[in-house]
Amino acid sequence: MRMAFTPLLNHDDLQRWRACSRRFWLHRRGGPAAVSQPSATGAGRTARDADETAEAAVVHGPGLQAALRASFPRADLIAAPGTPAEWAAAVQQTLDCLDSDRVAPEGWAILGACLTSDDRAQVRIDVLTCGEQGLRLFKVRYATVGDEADVDAVALWVHAAARCGLRVQSAGLLLVDTGFIYPGHGCYAGLFREVDLASVLGSRPVAAWLSAMRTCDRGPEPPATPGAQCTQSGGCEFASHCQAGEPASSLPAPDPQASLDIVGRELAAELRQEGHADLRSVALQRLGNLRHRRAARAIQQGGPVLEPAVAALMQALPYPRYSLRFDTIGFAVPLWAGTRPYQVLPFQWTCGVQSAAGQWAQQGFLADADGGDPRRAFALTLLQALGSAGPVLAYNAGFERSRLRELAQQFDDLAPALDAVQARIVDLFQLARAHYYHPVMAGSWSFKSISRAVAPDVPVARLEDVQASSAQAAFARSLQRGLEGAARQQLRAALQAHGQRETEVLRRMAALFEAGAAEAAGIRH
Ligand code: SF4
Repeated sequence: MRMAFTPLLNHDDLQRWRACSRRFWLHRRGGPAAVSQPSATGAGRTARDADETAEAAVVHGPGLQAALRASFPRADLIAAPGTPAEWAAAVQQTLDCLDSDRVAPEGWAILGACLTSDDRAQVRIDVLTCGEQGLRLFKVRYATVGDEADVDAVALWVHAAARCGLRVQSAGLLLVDTGFIYPGHGCYAGLFREVDLASVLGSRPVAAWLSAMRTCDRGPEPPATPGAQCTQSGGCEFASHCQAGEPASSLPAPDPQASLDIVGRELAAELRQEGHADLRSVALQRLGNLRHRRAARAIQQGGPVLEPAVAALMQALPYPRYSLRFDTIGFAVPLWAGTRPYQVLPFQWTCGVQSAAGQWAQQGFLADADGGDPRRAFALTLLQALGSAGPVLAYNAGFERSRLRELAQQFDDLAPALDAVQARIVDLFQLARAHYYHPVMAGSWSFKSISRAVAPDVPVARLEDVQASSAQAAFARSLQRGLEGAARQQLRAALQAHGQRETEVLRRMAALFEAGAAEAAGIRH
């Protein structure tokens, strides 16, 4: 009788407890839903992570479920339970599948098997299938490697299965095999590779953990020392609770825009030893590297620094000038025949063309949802737009060069023209690093950071109008089967607008550099 009132413990509880016992304790008392590692079959999803899981799933690729089905074509799928009644039904359904007298056919498994052990561990197993000497358990990760949390989860599953009287032959992970080449027609057999966890599961004393978790749960709020665990996986939902109990610091809050780390960790450590809190107090002569000195100068004067020499370099570039951005995606589950998991595939290019008269026109290509592998159309339309002469401005252009090289390798007949485009590329990143710094960049040279400096009114990070965290997420969502035409069109329009905003940033960056120091002084935040 006593056991019936012992609360259930699941993988999310274990993950919280392993990270911080106070976090586990607070959550058991009804704190906000925490972010958990989503299961491949949707197990253990909290309300807050539902949206994040959906977003992650689309970037994994629209073939996610098809891929698992291809490996286990005769699988029984048990829907993710939410309420206690649904859990009871799901556990019964799992036991019914296992109790069946039929011999398990080739390709059979239970996807999302639910178990509740006699010591009240509650688990939902991604894949439970038959081996010659017992059951085989797998956690599915749409990734190339697993982590410690995966091992903890599998250890908990094995513990629960054993306590339910099931004979477990093996337990492991199903990871994406990057050597797999998708042949098309939904043939995903071979996408996953098995990694056996037998050698590491023994180091997980699950029974002792469950006992300690219960003791913790019944006791007073545990002490905790804030540390790295407070900021991992999107941050702890109880940060404000813990900060409220901390003594107030007597030191002023550090200014991230003036951080000593901007000049590199080694030199930052020396400067700290010398008594500097940030770059505002460091004499410029102390910094030997010209780029570091320029950054410190910008920070100390509270505005951008632009070396006048860059103006002549920009003015030497002839017209027409092409400002070019690529958007690419790498699905864990390949979508187009002949491609591999995580292969970087271009799906959109956007190009702003500036004439000598100052006219600016935008062109672009965006892959169709049902048009198949877009690479050839991408390359052909790009070559047509870029013509045969004129500088091609890009930022951190190694990325664009790599994609052009890959396209040239893929399409022999287009290789000479694609190679010629590579030779025309002017990397604004290199010009910026050698001549420019703005304090809002806070030491970062990413496109997003420099956009904040040169075009603060042009948002380039999220696609707010369709609530997508990235162009990849929006594009992957636009490919989903069953999506209404209007929704697809909205996503495509948002992607095109995103590309145009990015080329607008390139145009402004080029104009700023060309105008020289006087113009830079006008951009302050
Ligand atoms: S903020 Fe840090 S110390 Fe506090 S509960 Fe969360 S993880 Fe634990």
